[in-house]
Amino acid sequence: MALPPALSPAQRAAALEKASQSRKRRAQIKAKVKSGNFSIDQVLELASSDEAIAKMRVHELLESINGVGKIRAHALMERFKISPTRRIAGLGRHQIKELRNEFMKPSHAVLPGKLLVLSGPGGVGKSTVAAQLRASGGFWVSVSATTRSPRSNELDGVDYFFIDDQEFSRRVKEDEFLEWANFAGSRYGTPSAAVEQALLAGRNVLLEIDIDGARQVKSHLPQALLIFLEPPTWEELVSRLESRGTDDLDRRAERLQLAQEELAASSFFDLIIVNDRVERVVEQLIGLTS
Ligand code: 5GP
Repeated sequence: MALPPALSPAQRAAALEKASQSRKRRAQIKAKVKSGNFSIDQVLELASSDEAIAKMRVHELLESINGVGKIRAHALMERFKISPTRRIAGLGRHQIKELRNEFMKPSHAVLPGKLLVLSGPGGVGKSTVAAQLRASGGFWVSVSATTRSPRSNELDGVDYFFIDDQEFSRRVKEDEFLEWANFAGSRYGTPSAAVEQALLAGRNVLLEIDIDGARQVKSHLPQALLIFLEPPTWEELVSRLESRGTDDLDRRAERLQLAQEELAASSFFDLIIVNDRVERVVEQLIGLTS
């Protein structure tokens, strides 16, 4: 490969000066975005005529938006299939449209209700906590849709909306889920319309979902508070999962394996609560809404 022509000292100084000016320009625009004086829409517009802005990395732009940290920026880029090193000039039309929509959505407005997302390894007691919160009257608890078969003690429309694969795919395609994820061979999703209605009506909303889903919720609704429920000990979790008569042997083994992976994900959450006593956890969660 031919080497680029060597630069004279004057050319080199000019190139360095240009790079320094570009960095200053990018810092200036990022500060404007951070202070709320510039919208993402304006930055995207500006990039068509300003070379320094066109060369800004997409993650830098996203991270400069108030309420969007590294984690949320990363989740958004994954969702819109934007590669981690992509610059604004390299965004496709579809990706620009998605970013614009994302930051114009009512999710960025202040919703009167609080949204709590309860996650943690299977068997940690999330559904018991959720049931008590529902009974307390202080929370509207979302009912998820799933392709898993009902357990003997579960009711359709109460524990889950049990739907088949085809119907689940239709709802994904129609964008009816706030988030959805695969878990142990089945799909689970949170119907978005009911959640948004409850939040707009000023209700406190609780989602009891897996870790992957929690991550997605944060990327759609940054004001969501992510809570990770931890077992007091690993042994306690194993015994809870093993004693689950509603799952067969293979399923229990699979869930144990998953629980190990899930426990490693707690650092992503806003708050970690140890489930040593359900009443204490419930009290703590109610306290978070006042
Ligand atoms: P289970 O089959 O034991 O009821 O639930 C398995 C896992 O799926 C649990 O971790 C539960 O929190 C999670 N889950 C339940 N509903 C949803 C949902 O709507 N979305 C996601 N992402 N996970 C869910």
